Amino acid sequence: MRVGFLGLGGMGSAMAKRLLGAGHELLVWNRSADKADALREHGAAVAPSVKAACEADVVISMLADDRALEAVSDDILENLDGVHCSMSTTSVALSERLTAAHAERAATSSPRQRFVAAPVFGRPDAARAGKLFIVAAGQESALDACAPLFDVMGQRTFRLSERPRDANLVKLSGNFLLANVIEALGEVVALVEKAGVDKREALAIFNGTLFDATAYHTYGKLIVDERWQPAGFTAALGLKDVRLTLAAAEALEVPLPLASLLRDRLLRLLASGGAELDWAALARLAAEDAGRR
Ligand code: NAP
Repeated sequence: MRVGFLGLGGMGSAMAKRLLGAGHELLVWNRSADKADALREHGAAVAPSVKAACEADVVISMLADDRALEAVSDDILENLDGVHCSMSTTSVALSERLTAAHAERAATSSPRQRFVAAPVFGRPDAARAGKLFIVAAGQESALDACAPLFDVMGQRTFRLSERPRDANLVKLSGNFLLANVIEALGEVVALVEKAGVDKREALAIFNGTLFDATAYHTYGKLIVDERWQPAGFTAALGLKDVRLTLAAAEALEVPLPLASLLRDRLLRLLASGGAELDWAALARLAAEDAGRR
C-alpha cells in the first residue's frame, strides 16, 4: 500500500521501519529533515512537504501532541484523498474537531477522505518489534483500509467504535493508569529501600505474585535500576497526557483526584529539570521525599 508517514520521532521511525520491512511503499515527512533522511536507507521516499506525503491511500500521523498535529492537519485536509490515521496520543477535543473537518471535506471535495484515531500502547522497543497494542476507532471501511498496516505495527488491534474520539479517551485513560502504577511503585521502592530491604527482591515478590503484569514489570525494572535515560517516554509527554485526561474529564464533569495529584508530581519533575527523563523518574521524587537522595 502507498502510505504517507508524518512524524519520525522515537515511535514514528520504529513504526515506519516496520511498514517498510513488510513491503509497503512509504512517503515519509518529518519537521526536522534529518530524521526523514535516515529512513532512505530502509527504502523510504522522503516527501519534501506534508502535501507531498498526502499522495497516498493512507496517511499516518505520529506526532508529539495536539500542537504538532494541528500544525499539519490543514495540509492533510486540503490534499488527502484517502484515510488520515492519527496514531499520536492527542486530545479528545482535537479528535472531535478533526472528525468533523474530514467529514466536511469528504462531503464537499475529497470523497474518499476519512479520519481514524488509532493511538497505541507500547514503548519504542515494542514499536520496533511490531508488538504495539492499537486502539482504533472510526468508520468500518476506514478501519478496514488501515487493517493491513495495523497488522504489521501491532500484536493486536482493538476496534472500539465508529467515533474516533473514543479511542483517544481510552488511550488517555490507559496512560493515566500507567502514571498511577509508576507513582505507586516509586513510593513503595522508596519505602522498602529506606527500611533496608533489597528493592530487587521486593519487586520480584510483587511481580511474581499479584502484580505479574507488563506495566509492573517494565516500570518496576526501570525504577529499581534508576534508569531514567534514554527516555522511552518522556516526563514532558507524560504531563501532556495527564493534562489531556483531566481536560476530557472536566468536559464530562468527572472528577479525577488522582490525576490532579499526578499532574503536580509531573510538574515537580519538570521543574527540577526532568522534562526529557523517562516518566519513570517520578520514582526519583519519592526517593527524594524519603530523604534518600
Ligand atoms: P518524540 O520522539 O518526541 O517525537 C515527536 C515527533 O513529533 C517528532 O517527529 C517531532 O518532530 C514531531 N513534532 C513535535 N512538535 C511538532 C510540531 N510543532 N510540528 C511538527 N512536528 C512536530 O515522541 P514519540 O515518543 O515518538 O511519541 C509520539 C506520539 O506517540 C506522542 O503523542 C506520544 O504521546 C505517543 N506515544 C509515545 C509512546 C512512547 O513510549 N514513546 C508510547 C505510546 C504513545 P522533530 O523531529 O522535528 O522534533
